Amino acid sequence: MHDVAPAEPAAPVRGDGPGLLRAIGTRLPDVRLITDRSDLEPYRRDETAYLRGGLPLAVALPASTAEVAGLVRLCAAHDVPIVPRGAGTGLSGGAVGIEGALTISFMRMDRILEIDAGNLTVTTQPGVINATLKQAVAEHGLFYAPDPASYAMCSIGGNLGTNAGGLCCVKYGVTRDAALGLEVVMADGAVLRLGGKNVKDVAGYGLIPLLVGSQGTLGLITEATLRLLPAPAPRATLLSFFPSLVAAGEAVAGLTAAGLRPVTLELLDRTTIRAVDDAFGLGLDRDAAAMLLVESDAAGGGADSELDAAVAVCEAAGSTFVLRAADAQEADWLREARRRAHYALEQQGVARMEDIGVPRSRVPDMLAEIERIGERHRIRIGAFGHAGDGNLHPTFVLPRDEDEEAAVARLEAARVDLFEAALALGGTVTAEHGIGLAKRAWLPRQRGEAAVEVMRSIKRALDPRDLLNPGRVL
Ligand SMILES: Cc1cc2nc3c(=O)[nH]c(=O)nc-3n(C[C@H](O)[C@H](O)[C@H](O)COP(=O)(O)OP(=O)(O)OC[C@H]3O[C@@H](n4cnc5c(N)ncnc54)[C@H](O)[C@@H]3O)c2cc1C
Repeated sequence: MHDVAPAEPAAPVRGDGPGLLRAIGTRLPDVRLITDRSDLEPYRRDETAYLRGGLPLAVALPASTAEVAGLVRLCAAHDVPIVPRGAGTGLSGGAVGIEGALTISFMRMDRILEIDAGNLTVTTQPGVINATLKQAVAEHGLFYAPDPASYAMCSIGGNLGTNAGGLCCVKYGVTRDAALGLEVVMADGAVLRLGGKNVKDVAGYGLIPLLVGSQGTLGLITEATLRLLPAPAPRATLLSFFPSLVAAGEAVAGLTAAGLRPVTLELLDRTTIRAVDDAFGLGLDRDAAAMLLVESDAAGGGADSELDAAVAVCEAAGSTFVLRAADAQEADWLREARRRAHYALEQQGVARMEDIGVPRSRVPDMLAEIERIGERHRIRIGAFGHAGDGNLHPTFVLPRDEDEEAAVARLEAARVDLFEAALALGGTVTAEHGIGLAKRAWLPRQRGEAAVEVMRSIKRALDPRDLLNPGRVL
């Protein structure tokens, strides 16, 4: 069982592809183009393994904003749609290929342009990898907070495209909170420069928050100025094990209610604990129903006392065992194990990761629902995620040898129950991966038709010919 979700319905190839390629060759001769069919194949997909998109006409790898603007103008002239693409680690199909469209990869625009320690900002091109940016600013004693678990692979452009979250967003916010300025190529090829280094700036409508998270459907981000922080204190790290998922959920709600501000508050259920332990041999408590990873970077030597307070909350919720990392290296292993939870589950079968969010106080209810859904549909579900944000990644794990049709039916039914449960708890069908291609049907269900119509009118105003990532999000 591999492609468990149907691919995008085949639409007729749009526009004059051969004419576009000739025009790029003559008008933008320095733009690197991939046109060989076998080299294009990987661009059908992103990390949403079950979604197989169309084969792009070509992949363009521009090196400057002027080249991006030139490509957009030529695509408009030849009516060929554009799929913007970063590192292709997305989990909602936002960067998967469209048959006959031009994929624009930003991975050659990979320069950090300025680290401004005085203003606590970094200005960067979109193709820089998140971990590279973090490392570069760390060398100046500074900290770039957003850290998706994929931080070693994903790009800043993709993070802006999805408004990526991550492990320390519970304390420092998501990508949108870090975006102070953007340079954007619009659907007509115009280049807008929005915001900059001002921390406060309320001139006109907020276009930056609109563009961040728009999954490449409203504009192509060619440069960003991002907020930095002074490097925080070294982290103290602990694992707390629980006899039930609900007890762990109560600890999450309790930590929030107690006013603690951990930098990381991640949850792994038993299926995920065992998968991670199988993969990394960490000696975790395999019988525990759930585990929390809690970290503090409180200033002034306060990290240990914040963790002491966290232990008290965890024990009051029923934690049976607490393990504190002995040193920074051990803490790194534990954090890395959490980052690789998805890959550990993939070793157990065909894994399909979902992404839901609920108000933090409802995490225990959501975890109980996930258990019930697994039982009702006889599907193994590994639940893990950024519990401190109320953001969980229930991951369906299906046997590799299961009959495809039966598996798809059970999975789809379980998925419907999962999203309905999240919505019933006042939550969302996607907290950080985006609607993309994978969840379009759920957008009106969550937001309501009237809100979706407002979104459509924004799309029509900014991209009247539906050139930018058509069919994604809306
Ligand atoms: C193991 C694993 C763990 C993950 N953990 C997390 C996590 O903790 N938190 C989280 O939020 N996500 C996570 N993700 C999902 C993914 O890494 C993020 O969504 C990431 O932001 C995607 O970045 P990318 O460079 O790979 O972008 P892509 O997948 O290439 O693109 C993502 C979207 O952004 C658009 N886009 C890309 N570049 C631009 C640009 N320059 N201008 C406009 N639009 C653009 C694309 O069209 C697409 O819609 C994880 C993925 C994996 C595989």
